[in-house]
Amino acid sequence: MSDYKRILLAVDLFGDGGQIIERAKSMTEANNADLYLIHVNEPITAAYSGNGLGWGDQVMALESSFREESRKKLNELAGHLKVPDDRCLSLHGRGATEIHRACEEHDIDLLVMGTHGQAGLQLLLGSTANSVLHGSSCDVLTVRIRD
Ligand code: AMP
Repeated sequence: MSDYKRILLAVDLFGDGGQIIERAKSMTEANNADLYLIHVNEPITAAYSGNGLGWGDQVMALESSFREESRKKLNELAGHLKVPDDRCLSLHGRGATEIHRACEEHDIDLLVMGTHGQAGLQLLLGSTANSVLHGSSCDVLTVRIRD
């Protein structure tokens, strides 16, 4: 009997995601589940456009090229994992908030993501994995990333 029907893999696309991707793939196969992908583009405009230095346009251009690049990378990963377009989510906003929303909207039963196993100051400041774990509506598998 398979427990998980819809598995969501959260990817940052610019780090080392290999181990997390492999784990999500094997969980999907073992459960005969549907795999979804999510990447969230966090806004940088709000932090820099209102600082009086007139960087607004440059920051917006940078943000738009980041978005384009991440969409391209997400599509490549989706092609590699054979995930159809409607299960490939490229969103804009705060990481944890958008991941929580996507889990609810798509009735996800397992979220797979990475963790660097932060300690000390990093742990106090909070990681994406920490923020997502608090308030998650589904099971979360955090894959320890070995640097
Ligand atoms: P971090 O806490 O930033 O080291 O990220 C830990 C994990 O959170 C990553 O391995 C991804 O699974 C997930 N993650 C981080 N950033 C994003 C993002 N922008 N969009 C989707 N998932 C992310």
